[in-house]
Amino acid sequence: MIRLKNVWFRYPRSMDWCIKDITAKIGTGITAITGPNGSGKTTLLRLIAGFYKPQKGYIEVFGKKISSYTDNLGTVIYVPSNPRVFTVGPTVKKDIEKIITSFKSRYNVNEILDLFNLRELANRKIFQLSEGEHRLLALASAIASDAKVILMDEPTVGLDKTFREVLLTVLRKMGEKKIILIATNDLRLASRADDILLIINGKLVTSGKPQEIYYTEEFIRKVGISEIVEFCTYVGLSRIVSPQELAEHLRSLVTKNV
Ligand code: ADP
Repeated sequence: MIRLKNVWFRYPRSMDWCIKDITAKIGTGITAITGPNGSGKTTLLRLIAGFYKPQKGYIEVFGKKISSYTDNLGTVIYVPSNPRVFTVGPTVKKDIEKIITSFKSRYNVNEILDLFNLRELANRKIFQLSEGEHRLLALASAIASDAKVILMDEPTVGLDKTFREVLLTVLRKMGEKKIILIATNDLRLASRADDILLIINGKLVTSGKPQEIYYTEEFIRKVGISEIVEFCTYVGLSRIVSPQELAEHLRSLVTKNV
């Protein structure tokens, strides 16, 4: 369990608070931190990782107060939004192996390569990887650590549909036993999380299951996807729905008209 208690943070030399009085509990499963750009998602991940220390309030990871990243060693892994600063190479396979060794992980490298469909790239030098491949490697290495807490900053940027599905499948498999916290503006990912924290301007505005809060009109308006809201309103829905639900709704309209 990760616990944030009245956490306030501002960057050195900044007059403005960037994180404002956030209190939250984050358990096992996939939790998505969403919110507009500049709202504090990355900062919150880095606070949990222990890279920064709150000026007020505190953060606990499994009951231990975090005042530096060293408090999290072996427990928490943080994958930044730029995967190239995370991977060490020289090849895909070696990169994964290094993490497995340093975290004394129970996984073996082939298991991870298979899980992420990376077998064919195993001996590729990391500087030869495409952006999406590189990101997938960073995420695979993070999972390979078997850390109990995995923090991912914008993990789906540059991932195509296939890679995104690979990631989601793995996260679903792992999520039951781990705390997976993802900062993302990607609705396709966030809508499939177990829980959502919505942060706007450094404040925790709302939290809950995606189906409880995420597809409400108010929520979508806050994160600014007004076209989807308008479309759903137009076809008589009071909330944003999944593609399957939408298909069902449209079918029911057709049936009624027949
Ligand atoms: P998000 O991840 O939601 O886009 P960030 O956590 O990156 O938001 O940033 C939150 C706020 O903190 C922004 O206003 C940003 O400009 C500011 N900020 C981020 N990093 C720094 C820094 N190193 N120094 C000063 N301000 C920063």
